[in-house]
Amino acid sequence: MTVLDEKLEPIFNQVLQRNAGELEFHQAVKEVFESLGAVIAKHPSYAEGGLIERICEPERQIIFRVPWIDDTGHVQINRGFRVEFSSALGPFKGGLRFHPSVYLGIIKFLGFEQIFKNALTGMPIGGGKGGSDFDPKGRSDGEIMRFCQSFMTELYRHLGEHTDVPAGDIGVGQREIGYMFGQYKRITNRYEAGVLTGKGLTWGGSQVRTEATGYGTVFFVHEMLKTRNQGFDGKKVSVSGSGNVAIYTIEKVQELGGKVITCSDSDGYVLDEDGIDLALIKEIKEVRRGRISDYATEKTGVKYFPKGCIWDVPCQIALPSATQNELNGRDARELIKNGVIAIGEGANMPCTSDAAHLFIAAGALFGPGKAVNAGGVATSALEMQQNASRDSWSFDSTEHRLAEIMKGIHDRCRATAEEYGAPGNYVTGANIAGFIRVAEAMRALGVIWSPALRQEPCSHQALWPKR
Ligand code: NDP
Repeated sequence: MTVLDEKLEPIFNQVLQRNAGELEFHQAVKEVFESLGAVIAKHPSYAEGGLIERICEPERQIIFRVPWIDDTGHVQINRGFRVEFSSALGPFKGGLRFHPSVYLGIIKFLGFEQIFKNALTGMPIGGGKGGSDFDPKGRSDGEIMRFCQSFMTELYRHLGEHTDVPAGDIGVGQREIGYMFGQYKRITNRYEAGVLTGKGLTWGGSQVRTEATGYGTVFFVHEMLKTRNQGFDGKKVSVSGSGNVAIYTIEKVQELGGKVITCSDSDGYVLDEDGIDLALIKEIKEVRRGRISDYATEKTGVKYFPKGCIWDVPCQIALPSATQNELNGRDARELIKNGVIAIGEGANMPCTSDAAHLFIAAGALFGPGKAVNAGGVATSALEMQQNASRDSWSFDSTEHRLAEIMKGIHDRCRATAEEYGAPGNYVTGANIAGFIRVAEAMRALGVIWSPALRQEPCSHQALWPKR
């Protein structure tokens, strides 16, 4: 476990104290801080002016009541959140998660990660995240609609295409975005397409947004593999989850010649040695909203494991794409023992710190979520561009832009890791490159004047494309 820099230790202790009980948020902050020692050693002024303390404190946090009426006529109450973390680089941008595990600590960890992820894309978007402890599982379409409408009835006043632009995440797909956008439009009397991303193609959405996080994950991992003269061709790949990210990860891996042998949901996982049947998974998950166990019932030769650990299945590439902390130190040891060569975090923080450290120490290629899964938000930014210009681009040209963006993120992480003495360490590279872009913007926008804050123009400026 990395020891924190002596200037960062007290800041981290303050984060623990001010955000008691928010374990996932602590974990996300610590992971970034572990990388920042090298930056502070080279550019001590980043530790001045309360800059790092400011990054750790959201600009605004909104918590609200979401009352709605279920199909039996009973009033249900959920809690809604929107954490507007940083607008140094652009409007707050980040998804909404509907899952019973949601509480402030989860939203803050996701919002904090989002700041650096969005910075890494090189696009003009700040970081935020939101959601609710509402559980959509088993709810009727009418209940989902009434919940989304109630959620937006409060949230709308905080949104705007230049202020805060949410998208989807766990439990929030195109259907939910549609109900929320409809309610926003009803309340404001404005067809403000740029206020939400992940919209349907016929009402302001972008080609490739649905596929973007999964495709982007595979593009990033492909870039990592290329550094070792390898590709997906013929490799056994293990994917967890069977939602939006997992499905389009599987699709792109298959296109590149890899064989995905697993996927899962919160009830269990399936092992299909013949390779996952994508059409069947899409039918079960996207059309019927069924369970992964249905896949094993409907296809011969498939094993279903309601208990047990997906990471015990030997594979060369592991792409955790379900949820945070789904792959721990024990799982990492098992994967390493079984010869894993690359891990790409399709989900946000799916690997515990322990697991991430073990992969890196074993010399595996390890791509952290804030870099690997940035394709989703990057394509959301492309959706915002299309909305602003009332234009729509073709699938091929949008996918091409996505591939270029992912290569740019990969190369930036790699170059930064190299510059800071950690060649091949994508965690260090992603954290430092993301941090520097945000920190430079925060300095430029000012808080209080201090001569120290104006020194040391940073060599990293060269890494960012000129606009
Ligand atoms: P979905 O809701 O579409 O799918 C989530 C999948 O993960 C489902 O198969 C779900 O199973 C499973 N899952 C969720 N929670 C748990 C849990 N606690 N234990 C086991 N399995 C679980 O979400 P997405 O695919 O959109 O998101 C997956 C991950 O990717 C998340 O970490 C999200 O933050 C991240 N991400 C998503 C982006 C996007 O564009 N959608 C962008 C960047 C990151 P079940 O149905 O049983 O709950």
